[in-house]
Amino acid sequence: MLSLREVDIVVVGLGPAGSAFSYFTSKSSNADIICFERNTRLALKPCGELVPKELFSIIGVNPREVNAYPIRRVIVYFYHNGSLVERVIEFNGVEGYSISKRRLLEILVDKALSSGVSVELGKPVLRISRDGVVNVREVGIVRGKYVICCDGVYGVSVEYFKPGRVAKAYQRRVANVKTPYDEACYTFIIGGVKGYGWIIPKSDGTLNVGFGGLDIDPRVLLDKMVKTIPWLSSYSVVCEGGALIPVSGLRSNIVESKLIALGDVAGSVLPLSGEGIRPSIIMAKYLSRAVIEALEEGDKRLWEGIRRYISEWGYRIKRSLLYLKVYERMPIQLVKQLVLRVKPDTLKSILNGEFTGAIVKFG
Ligand SMILES: Cc1cc2nc3c(=O)[nH]c(=O)nc-3n(C[C@H](O)[C@H](O)[C@H](O)COP(=O)(O)OP(=O)(O)OC[C@H]3O[C@@H](n4cnc5c(N)ncnc54)[C@H](O)[C@@H]3O)c2cc1C
Repeated sequence: MLSLREVDIVVVGLGPAGSAFSYFTSKSSNADIICFERNTRLALKPCGELVPKELFSIIGVNPREVNAYPIRRVIVYFYHNGSLVERVIEFNGVEGYSISKRRLLEILVDKALSSGVSVELGKPVLRISRDGVVNVREVGIVRGKYVICCDGVYGVSVEYFKPGRVAKAYQRRVANVKTPYDEACYTFIIGGVKGYGWIIPKSDGTLNVGFGGLDIDPRVLLDKMVKTIPWLSSYSVVCEGGALIPVSGLRSNIVESKLIALGDVAGSVLPLSGEGIRPSIIMAKYLSRAVIEALEEGDKRLWEGIRRYISEWGYRIKRSLLYLKVYERMPIQLVKQLVLRVKPDTLKSILNGEFTGAIVKFG
């Protein structure tokens, strides 16, 4: 027989957003939390798995624990009218890591479990209602004082939080390729195309090779990248798949009655780059504090927490959306100059949504 359970918080979806929210909330409160994840394994969605180094101090995890491969340089390939130009951008040390996203999520979920959170894998949420009632396959009805909607752009919470503009992405995990540089990731930009390709080495010697963008067929452009970059042309495919990335910026309605949008559902992605792991985890940290306070003192604290998040971090998403709009309108020659001349620190601040200079004075 199906039962009714009442809890403080229901978390729907255990991607980076849901896993981090459960971890942060269970660490700092005694709230009764239950999480439902549709899949029996974590991190099945394709992902480049590239994260900035800043992430590790936020979650208190050592890069070694998530099989991290350090990134000290970015190799940019610019392709236009049949010619390929290469540029090496060197940073002053390790700027980011290519990680095992599955390992990261497992660590966060294990920590949440050991703080008393209930985790149900392989239990898809079938319906959510505005008043916090959640219907779960094989479980039944669960009512939460708050429901944290972290089910991504394909989830059930789409009924309340429709994604705006989405980029299409396609990625292959490949083996048997010798990369020309150590501790580097690679990006492939095609003149006139609103998107880019990525080649991200993993610590086990495989690579994540993908292409994503707007108004494109990412699979066709991925094949083009593979044919164009000489050292990439022969590889064996381990697995492949496509997925969407929300690039409209933060939603204006993050809260709908008892439902709270988080991660991709909330549009917490830097639109220019499509980076979503760190933004989801940072948003989870802010919302975790806001929800804990709201459970004790009422919804007013939730709104205050959301405002705090927007003014302290969320503004970067807005800025990155602005860069994307500028980039979409840039003439090809200017894009070429930008990618071939931009200074490493300027590139970092653009990718972080922190750059405030004039976009044409990028040198
Ligand atoms: C091809 C590709 C490459 C990317 N590369 C990078 C990168 O290199 N670096 C980076 O920072 N970001 C990258 N991103 C973006 C990043 O993956 C996302 O922004 C991030 O995963 C968002 O986390 P999330 O938890 O909000 O959503 P998701 O990761 O989508 O997680 C949602 C979870 O909810 C579960 N779910 C869905 N429906 C239900 C349901 N009905 N019931 C229960 N559970 C449900 C799903 O199974 C999933 O586990 C990439 C995205 C794509 C598509």
